[in-house]
Amino acid sequence: MVYLDSAATTKPCKQAADAILNTMEQSFGNASSLHGMGIRSEKVITAAKRTLLGALGEGDIIFTSGATESSNTALLGAAETYRRTGSRIVTTAIEHPSVANTITKLEERGFSAVRLAPKDYPDFEQALADAVDENTVLVTCMAVNNETGFIVDVKRLYRLVKKKNPKTIVHIDAVQGFLKVPLDGDLISISGHKIHSGKGIGALFIKKGIRIAPLLCGGGQQKGLRSGTEPVELIAGLDAAIKAYHGTKEHFAALKARLLAGLSELPGITVNSGDNCLPNIVNFSVEGVRSEIMLHSLEEREIYVSSGSACSRGKTSGVLAAFGVPDKLADSAIRASFCAETTEQDIDALLDGIKAGIERFRR
Ligand code: PLP
Repeated sequence: MVYLDSAATTKPCKQAADAILNTMEQSFGNASSLHGMGIRSEKVITAAKRTLLGALGEGDIIFTSGATESSNTALLGAAETYRRTGSRIVTTAIEHPSVANTITKLEERGFSAVRLAPKDYPDFEQALADAVDENTVLVTCMAVNNETGFIVDVKRLYRLVKKKNPKTIVHIDAVQGFLKVPLDGDLISISGHKIHSGKGIGALFIKKGIRIAPLLCGGGQQKGLRSGTEPVELIAGLDAAIKAYHGTKEHFAALKARLLAGLSELPGITVNSGDNCLPNIVNFSVEGVRSEIMLHSLEEREIYVSSGSACSRGKTSGVLAAFGVPDKLADSAIRASFCAETTEQDIDALLDGIKAGIERFRR
């Protein structure tokens, strides 16, 4: 099996799996319980928080079911809390649906949104900051795009936005960037299953001094910000996965270089992930072969990739268009994404599979 779909999800690492099982067996108490078993669970949660804050900065962490919940909580919660700051939201045309659809919901509630596309702005961070005015309550932008690997320098973005309007709250979807690129933001969403910790766990970083209204009503766990009994075993798994993470830019860059060299020898390939992209995600279009056809042809060889333009029920997301990729090429886009365990042999198998797919299906 050749798994080249780590941007979709990653295989849980042994450290995370062990931590989950150990916690289930030994620290299964409810963290709200006042007895020793509750305190033991509370300690697991505190340790994981410390790990996350070590990576993200000074503030607080709430554990969620994943980044979709983190971003919903951040955006809806901040919009409610800071409504008096203004009604304008600045965002991008390349956001994941967990952010994009939440912004649409806020528009229905009376906020207005501007969405900038990278293809229109050579200096994307500056353009986003320029779009901020005195009425801007929120900026939300992803750190790394899930379809192409495109990087936004969110540290610079944060600085520029605060210079323009110190009251504007900055939310960063760091699902694809956490542990890979420098981060900054008032609110930062992360997801466990993209970093080998398993599904159903995520976190929201809340910078010191930032307040948000909670999404859920309930028992008031996590300082009232996220009611519901904390999944202490999944939190332990997330902590272990962060500590065990060992993907490196050098490894990913070598894999990308090998893939690009091989693709350059095949006819009719367009690479959609340029030098401004994180090298663990490579998006390319295979002229004359639709994405799904190629995807299933590779699957016959047990090579797993994604269709390059995140489709939802046959409809493309439009994200590739925001990078300037024409529709025809978006229809034939493939996304290969790597993790620390990806090997050169995996890349060679993909190249063989693409070559065979072209010979068999190109019209
Ligand atoms: N944001 C980005 C950039 C993603 O790639 C994903 C998952 O594909 C999400 C958010 C959603 O994360 P989760 O599955 O943890 O809800």
